[in-house]
Amino acid sequence: MSETLRIAVVGAGPAGIYAADILKKEVAARGGDVLIDLFEHLPAPYGLVRYGVAPDHPRITGIIRALREVLESGVVRLFGNVRFGEDIVLDDLQRHYHGVIFATGATKDAPLDIPGIDLPGSYGAADVVSWYDGHPDVPREWPLEAKEIAVIGNGNVALDVARVLVKHPEDLLPTEVPPNVYEGLKASPVTDVHVFGRRGPLGVKFTPLELRELGELRDVDMIVHDEDFGVDPNEERQKQNKQILVISRTLEQWRTREVRQASRRLHLHFWSKPDAVLGDGRVEALRVERTRPTDDGTGLEGTGELREFPVQAVYRAVGYFSSPVPGVPFDELRGVIPNEAGRVMDGHRPLPGVYATGWIKRGPVGLIGHTKSDAKETIEQLLADDNSRWEPQPYEADAVPALLAERGVAWTDIAGWIRLDEHEMGLGEPEGRARIKVVPRDEMIRVSRGE
Ligand SMILES: Cc1cc2nc3c(=O)[nH]c(=O)nc-3n(C[C@H](O)[C@H](O)[C@H](O)COP(=O)(O)OP(=O)(O)OC[C@H]3O[C@@H](n4cnc5c(N)ncnc54)[C@H](O)[C@@H]3O)c2cc1C
Repeated sequence: MSETLRIAVVGAGPAGIYAADILKKEVAARGGDVLIDLFEHLPAPYGLVRYGVAPDHPRITGIIRALREVLESGVVRLFGNVRFGEDIVLDDLQRHYHGVIFATGATKDAPLDIPGIDLPGSYGAADVVSWYDGHPDVPREWPLEAKEIAVIGNGNVALDVARVLVKHPEDLLPTEVPPNVYEGLKASPVTDVHVFGRRGPLGVKFTPLELRELGELRDVDMIVHDEDFGVDPNEERQKQNKQILVISRTLEQWRTREVRQASRRLHLHFWSKPDAVLGDGRVEALRVERTRPTDDGTGLEGTGELREFPVQAVYRAVGYFSSPVPGVPFDELRGVIPNEAGRVMDGHRPLPGVYATGWIKRGPVGLIGHTKSDAKETIEQLLADDNSRWEPQPYEADAVPALLAERGVAWTDIAGWIRLDEHEMGLGEPEGRARIKVVPRDEMIRVSRGE
């Protein structure tokens, strides 16, 4: 490897940052040099780690520290507030790099096609998550007028949304929750949040820790229903999986625990498939169809029994979905960039110089840690393809900054991110809080650029 390898990474979420880290180490191990430019649409890095993970999940701070170390390692340049497809396009990258790794993740809700899903009062989880995490591109106000709320889905995002909505907001105060979110939640009249899943209690996609945490919420009773248990003849076999066993034990505890007359309740309903959102002009109820395991025990079928739950808001947490990346093939059905082990495919042929990693590569499932093994696989392909790289112009350190400046893009860099990070922590300090996030995009840019 003689010439310094120049790689663009689009998306500074965990997948993009881990890819940069692994690339840097692998190239060094081969005795080569690499320069990595990270293009990020938001003025701050970390993707869903900053704008997806719930504010009361501070245990990921260790991950953030590791991501920051990569950014500060000196090999990576960050161009924040730069949107691929608008501010910079594939042709530009081809002129300046040997290849590109797309790590653009997923930001939208997957659709749920049931009648009434578009009624006012029915929302996607991704939107409320963006609101409570202080995403700069969503409105600062969120309508919280419902006393009874339905959350559709049995994954961790459903639990996050249910927990944030049912939790007493004072208990969120020590976290990074933005002030407008705290005020919004404080005014919420919520008393009951109902979470619906179409499978049985042992078919959930929750992780045990996230489920157990619900039982520790102050002044919130966990409600599960006897009729949902012992339905599936496969339960004993399912419990051989350790994770499912822990989930089963947690649910059993709530089944047998006395309800404590808390002022708020979180209900878990299993075997309940959403059938329709009902209401005259806005959400008034959710109708579900009861389900059961099929006789052969391998699937799920509707029983025809319909039940209605009066709710004034519905949140669907049925998965995230990625957006197409301009100029790059996209699988509309799976919501991913088609790829083989990270090599982007144009039909049956690899697209030279173009790679993908993270949620845009394999779909929106898995924890932050999974994006690391993902990145490793992608980097292996990239390094193996040394005959099919792009042939860029000779290197000039200022070429890309000059291009962005010419286009009037106010980009933010790593020093700017450190400035914003410290500014946010400084805002939090007098109030004994970890940080107070700067939410408006122009203010984030102003602080980052020291303007
Ligand atoms: C609500 C929610 C809560 C979660 N909680 C946890 C948790 O507690 N613990 C855990 O381990 N995992 C959690 N996860 C999963 C974790 O967030 C993901 O595994 C991880 O963020 C995926 O990483 P990624 O880099 O592929 O995508 P993202 O994190 O989505 O990063 C993609 C980045 O690309 C940028 N981008 C997109 N398009 C463009 C463009 N055109 N130009 C430039 N940049 C672009 C985006 O702005 C973003 O910064 C959660 C996920 C969600 C949705």
